[in-house]
Amino acid sequence: MGVRTLAFVDLDDTLFSSLRKHGDVESVLEPAALLANGDVISYSNPGQRALLRMLQAADQIIPVTARNIAAYRRVLIKFKGLAVVSHGATILLQDGTVDPVWHERVAPLLQREEDNLKRLLADIEQSAGTADLRCWLVYDAELPVYLVVKHKASDGQRVAEVARDVILPWMGTRSDYTLHVNGNNMAVIPPGFGKAAAVAYLLERERAENGTPFTIGAGDSITDLDFMKLCDVQLMPSGSQLALAADEGLRFKQALGDGALLLGKAPFAELQSFALAPEGC
Ligand SMILES: [Mg+2]
Repeated sequence: MGVRTLAFVDLDDTLFSSLRKHGDVESVLEPAALLANGDVISYSNPGQRALLRMLQAADQIIPVTARNIAAYRRVLIKFKGLAVVSHGATILLQDGTVDPVWHERVAPLLQREEDNLKRLLADIEQSAGTADLRCWLVYDAELPVYLVVKHKASDGQRVAEVARDVILPWMGTRSDYTLHVNGNNMAVIPPGFGKAAAVAYLLERERAENGTPFTIGAGDSITDLDFMKLCDVQLMPSGSQLALAADEGLRFKQALGDGALLLGKAPFAELQSFALAPEGC
């Protein structure tokens, strides 16, 4: 019998995207995920569906997504079994229930950070204003898992400015937090968990139960890289944030001592896509 094959796969902008991001003719798109009100929010193009079919040749696909449980259940592709959701804060077992061992491990870490996240949310609302922004804390399995900021008209530059003016100064004393900014999607993620930590936990269990598998990691964002690095092969969509960072040799490094942020070649005004993560994360 050959080695087991596992594919750890990010969802949004890897297997499907919002209509705005598709340059394709609409007729080739297929609905891929719904809003809470039932409207279609994401679509797959033929290339994304072909990638899914290739990944489905693995013994198991394990989604690794920022979506919380409710948003994950609105994805129209039906995955069997394990899933990493909420940026790694929650793991769903084969039967769709929350992994209690992982939940117990991360719960105290998240509860400890809830007040910090609430204060940051209030800071953003006060400093940046909310007329054109939507910001909220994402909860999952009754835990506060991360903070999200989006611009109502999808202006990524405005989101990047909030990161520069409010989030980065706040992170000056909280360098163990992770900041994910990819276009109109910004997430401030507390320390102690993450996609990579959750994938490492699943890999450890897989090795103990079935031996060492062959693994593929697929994702589009810089914050996907750490879980992809745990896999034997890494896949990233061409043109994605991660592919662009690899292409241009950008290095994203937080220099907290003088409050400076090194952002590679692009001047901040042109940059709408970056991430900060704790050293060695
Ligand atoms: Mg993604």
